[in-house]
This record gives sequence, structure tokens and C-alpha cells, in this order.
Amino acid sequence: MIAEIISIGDELLNGITVNTNASFIGQQLTCAGIEVSWIETVGDDVDRLRDTLMHASKRVNIIIITGGLGPTHDDITKKVVADFFKQPLVFQPVIYQRLEAFFKSRGRTMSPLNRSQAEIPRGAEILENRLGTAPGFYLLKNRVHIFVLPGVPGEMQRMMQTSVLPKLKHIGLPGIHFLKTLHTIGISESSLNEAFITFKDMFPGVRLASLPNAQGVSLRLSMNASEKSGGKPIFKRAVEFTREAAGQYLYGEDEDTIESVVGNLLLKHNYSIAVAESCTGGLIGHRLTNISGSSQYFQCGVVTYSDWVKIDLLKVPESVIRKYGAVSKKTAIAMAKGVIHLSGADAGLSVTGIAGPTGGSKGKPVGLVYIGYIDKYHHTVEKFIFSQDRILNKMRFSGYALDLVRRMLQDST
Ligand code: ATP
Ligand code: MG
Repeated sequence: MIAEIISIGDELLNGITVNTNASFIGQQLTCAGIEVSWIETVGDDVDRLRDTLMHASKRVNIIIITGGLGPTHDDITKKVVADFFKQPLVFQPVIYQRLEAFFKSRGRTMSPLNRSQAEIPRGAEILENRLGTAPGFYLLKNRVHIFVLPGVPGEMQRMMQTSVLPKLKHIGLPGIHFLKTLHTIGISESSLNEAFITFKDMFPGVRLASLPNAQGVSLRLSMNASEKSGGKPIFKRAVEFTREAAGQYLYGEDEDTIESVVGNLLLKHNYSIAVAESCTGGLIGHRLTNISGSSQYFQCGVVTYSDWVKIDLLKVPESVIRKYGAVSKKTAIAMAKGVIHLSGADAGLSVTGIAGPTGGSKGKPVGLVYIGYIDKYHHTVEKFIFSQDRILNKMRFSGYALDLVRRMLQDST
């Protein structure tokens, strides 16, 4: 089965909104073993949408449409889909009742415009939207499975997971699809890939994709079992080989993030952590607290940007800053020590560097960072030099800082 994703909305064409829906749906379908052959983006325009539907319905068996399901005049999706597949819109009292209940539960009155949201094409199945007002629907026409979902990303994502994917599974997916993603940090894409020159011959049928991101490289392995009978042991061996090749740089798999991995390690060691940040401006604290349950280990984060706050709050000796500079090994370790004193945490992490693009010098170029880490068994500083891009540097500095914590705590297990 092959699929096409159609994203609808002028805001996607004029660049106001990034089409995150298509990438989310693309990922979900790929993981489910369905090949996405086309992604089309079309504005709020009846003729162009009709044209897009005409092409899609001839070339794929699954069409997933998002956007333009709301009650306003520019929301044309439902009408065009209904017309194209020659299924008139019919009023569904059950949707209307849900809409009334939705508005009542929020203490709002329903606009007459919303009544149109209770209509779906004849023969279509309602896909309930628990997070918003616009329900989606599923239609099977000339052996093409059509799913129509709202554009709001959160609503669409929930409906993909609760309605669309279960339904596609029920319809029958094309064999088993093995998928594994391994995440690394601290090694360049080319160095990492040196280990994979013979990979294709060693593991026939297993596809390996190298996916660099702001802080590291992920390796995605996939295999369609139908391509090769008895694929499972080959796939398992390929994953094992990849794990070993990634070695110490491997920090997690699939849904893991460096912050979630660090969080789990802190929990395991029963450690609390405090962070003293300079050039990352609070990003490490932000990332650590993105993890639900982080209050169990995250003690505090301070952004000590200026020299005098480093001296005043973290008790970094003024002489250290004067002699070695704020971006130095000694300042980094003094910051980590200082934040432990300040908070009473078991572990202290610090970052001081030059995010750029200005502020660099010959001895201390843009992209230079020192990361300090202290706990009862460790007392360490690492130095890295990255690029000229400020935002990328902040991402990298924070990722490498979290990775230092990971390596230290993994060592102590
Ligand atoms: P509503 O009932 O809220 O109007 P809708 O189905 O009509 O739902 P749209 O009006 O198309 O949805 O979009 C709602 C919101 O979702 C807008 O903020 C829009 O920018 C955003 N959105 C729509 N399509 C996408 C997309 N493909 N990727 C990311 N965001 C999107
Ligand atoms: Mg809308």
C-alpha cells in the first residue's frame, strides 16, 4: 500500500506555518510500514484541491488530508472531498450533540457556523476529535482509503494515533516493518560511518540511514520483512552491530532523548543536580525540565551570564576570572562547585563558552566551550570547539553538557 499526504492551507504555502503535519504523518506511516510516495501542499482553493485529489486518487491507495475542516468560509476541505467523491454532505446529529457538549463543558456558546461541522459525506465514518471541534472522517471509495483530519497539529496527532493507525492496521499492513533508531552524540557523521562500509553486504535487506541533527547523529535501521524471509535475525544482528560500532557515543534509542537518559540515570543513582549556565542561557535547565518527573532530581538552574554574578552568586574567585578569563577550565569547575554549594545538590554541571558570532578572539574562538561536572566521584572539565552559529552552538553546548553527565553516571554503574 502506498500513501499520499495532502496538506491544505494558504498559510503553508506563504511560509507562515511550517508543515509539521506532513512530517509527523510521514513518520507515523513509515514506521507502520506504509510507503509515503507523495506529499502535496495546496492552498484554500477549490479547483486546485480538486485537481490534487484527482491525481492522488489515481496513484495511491491511502490519502491522508489535513486542514481546512473548520467552520469558516475558507475551510473548504469537506465540501470539495464530498463533491469529488460524489457523496453529498449529510447532517449527523451525533456529531452535533458532541459539539454542543464540547462548548458547554467550556462554558461557551456555540456559533451557528459550527452547525456545518456536524456534516460529513454520506457513507463516511466519523473520526472523533476529543481535543477540538472539527471531527475527521474516513471514506473508502474505489479502493482508496481517504482520511480527513483537522489541521491543528495536536488534534491531528491524537487522531492519527487513536483512529487512523488502528484503522490502517485493521485494513492490513504490508508485512512486518522493523525499525530501530540509535542516537549518538560526540562523533562526526563521517567518522561514525567509517564502521559501516561493509554494512550493506553484511546485512542484506537492512537499510541504514544516517541522520545528523543539531547535536549528534542518529542511525535509523529499517527492513521490510516481506523483502526477505527470515529477516528478523538479520535485523537483530544489524542492530547489535550498529550498537557496538557506535560504542561510547551511543546515548539512546528510539524515543530516548539525551535529557530523558540523563534523568533516568540521575534517578538510578538517586542524585539531584544543579546547573550553572552562562552561554546556554538556561537551555540545559529547560531541557532537563522538559522531562515529566524531573522535579525528583532537578534542584535548580542559574544563568550566571556576567562575571560579577559568577563571582557574587557562585563564588567563582575573582582572581580566577581575572587570570584565566570567564571562558576557561578553572571558571567552569568553580561554577560547578559553586552551584553545588548554592543548592546542596549531589551533582553540579556548568557551561561557559562563546556562542558567537561575535566575542571570539585568537586564543578563544567562537564556538569554544568548557563544561564542568562535579559529584562525589567525579571532578571533570571538558573543552570543545564548535561552529560560528549561535543557536546551533547553544544546542550543541547543552547537548554535550548533558552527555558529559551521562558518561560520568554510566561509568559509575
Ligand atoms: P479549525 O477547526 O481549528 O479551523 P482546521 O481543520 O480548519 O481546524 P486549519 O484552519 O487548516 O484547521 O488550521 C488550524 C491551525 O493548524 C492553524 O493554526 C494552522 O496554521 C495549523 N496547521 C494547519 N495545517 C498545518 C500543517 N500542515 N502543519 C502545521 N500546522 C498546521
Ligand atoms: Mg480552519
